[in-house]
Amino acid sequence: MKRWTMLAAILTVAAFVFSGAGAADAASGPQKLKVYSVAKKGYVMSEKVVKTKEEWKRQLTPEQYDVLREAGTEHAYRNAYWDNHEKGVYRCAGCGLDLFSSEAKYESGTGWPSFWQPVAASNITTKTDKTLFFSTRTEVLCARCGGHLGHVFDDGPKPTGLRYCMNSAAMVFVKAGK
Ligand code: FE
Repeated sequence: MKRWTMLAAILTVAAFVFSGAGAADAASGPQKLKVYSVAKKGYVMSEKVVKTKEEWKRQLTPEQYDVLREAGTEHAYRNAYWDNHEKGVYRCAGCGLDLFSSEAKYESGTGWPSFWQPVAASNITTKTDKTLFFSTRTEVLCARCGGHLGHVFDDGPKPTGLRYCMNSAAMVFVKAGK
């Protein structure tokens, strides 16, 4: 009888610890997401990047921080990639996720790097932005780190008709073959 009581007690404690630990892991573990990798030419599993304000400040340049974490906008024609015509991939300056390919880059005449599509819909997220008076814009963010990249407008070229108006400071260009 005593043995059974003891066993029941051990099992109860074990179940409690096990379920508690399991719930804690699920709540605090990194959130998974499926993203497209240009190098791997396919979708891969990745984890969301979550950092504190202080961590981002340490990692990023002041320009990158202003755009990515404060939704700032850099100057037209005075940014790294508006006139870049090299072949390659534009990655998130915050987390390195592939965002845009030079194949979808075009001359928008705005002075900001413009694309008609991202490398994959999974690699970006969009959000309604009403911060500019009297207008509603669609904000574009990195799907992995939530960094602000720019906005998307519906006056782009075919085939999508979209204009992803990006900030150079939010991205790092990697030349093809590198
Ligand atoms: Fe990112």
